[in-house]
Amino acid sequence: MPETAEQDLSAQVDYEPLLKALMEGVCLCDPDGRILMANKALLDLVDAKADDMIGKLLPQLFVPQSRQAIEEALAQVTTQRAVKGIEANAATSNGVTLPVSVGCSLLKPTEGDTPVILVRLKDLSRENKLSEELSRTQSESESLLAELDEAYRQLKGAQEELVRRERLAASGELAASVAHEIRNPLSIIGMSIQYLHSKLSPGHAFREFTNAIIKKVERLDKITTQLINYGRPRELKLEARDVHRNLNQVLHLAVSKCKSQGVKIVRRFDRSLPKVKWDHDLIDQVFTNLVTNALEAMPNGGVLTVETQFDREKSQTIISVSDTGHGIPPKVQAQLFKPFFTTKRNGTGLGLAISHRIIDHHHGTITCASKTRGSQRGTTFTIRLPITPPAKS
Ligand code: ADP
Ligand code: MG
Repeated sequence: MPETAEQDLSAQVDYEPLLKALMEGVCLCDPDGRILMANKALLDLVDAKADDMIGKLLPQLFVPQSRQAIEEALAQVTTQRAVKGIEANAATSNGVTLPVSVGCSLLKPTEGDTPVILVRLKDLSRENKLSEELSRTQSESESLLAELDEAYRQLKGAQEELVRRERLAASGELAASVAHEIRNPLSIIGMSIQYLHSKLSPGHAFREFTNAIIKKVERLDKITTQLINYGRPRELKLEARDVHRNLNQVLHLAVSKCKSQGVKIVRRFDRSLPKVKWDHDLIDQVFTNLVTNALEAMPNGGVLTVETQFDREKSQTIISVSDTGHGIPPKVQAQLFKPFFTTKRNGTGLGLAISHRIIDHHHGTITCASKTRGSQRGTTFTIRLPITPPAKS
């Protein structure tokens, strides 16, 4: 019978060398939980001497809050033969609390002998530390990975921007040289047609044609001038000036157009703004482009607001030009600063591209926010410029 064989085997077992060999903290208890024997691993674990431990009740090895669970395990093991995975806190002799996992097994007694309970204590603190370490390493590597990802994204963005700029510079250069070649013959055509026009009597039938040619020549002249400005940005001529004076000049030139379109001008100037060292002729071009676009977006009236602010912390001037016009759909917004992009029948699509370039040369930024619907309908272009741009640009 297997039962008898097992009993015979347990009768022959000398537990001591077995317990000694175990790496895990182990002890033998009687059914009351009194410790009969403990191996070195357990003594080391709770930092106790064998003499102090033998005869002690098992629950005494634990902090008061864990004792009930141990008592219950001892009670259960006599009927269930094995109880595993009880998490408890052992109390070491030097007052340290040690998280452990406790397992109890009932060893089959030889006939007539009292049963013995084998108790195993597994140190969880190392495991906990390891898992903490693991999760820390994991979160560190996750954040490293995120940083790497972000760095890669920035690098890719910078590379794309570089390619875009190079392409723009090359196409701008080409466009400027072609425009330059066109300009001289164009001005001769312009002067000649003006002359012919002046020689025609007021009611002459050809006047209709000469008028049309004059208008087209004017338009071509505008385009070639813009192309030359775009393609060959000149060296900045920096000069310290009050920016409000320049803004007022640009707005002054727009007054009659505003009146005829029913557009109200609102100025919100921050008077604390110091003088700014910019190439004012170029920056005025930017203001003019923005104001012209704003007026073109409000053919049936509205409000044109020009605001200035001073960002002391960054030593930057913020200038915004807002309109209450038809707004810019998101698809169009993505293309705004591309040269030759226009939604207007007579547009050149160069105003914003030139403005972007000028602001860029001054180490500033230009951004756009726009709504095509609702009470906030309209567009705001915001320029941020350093009070004094770095010497080399
Ligand atoms: P252009 O005025 O010759 O079309 P721009 O570079 O000045 O060229 O403007 C490009 C396009 O941006 C315009 O055709 C228009 O679609 C859009 N845009 C610019 N400013 C505004 C604005 N204030 N409101 C609505 N659309 C605008
Ligand atoms: Mg324009």
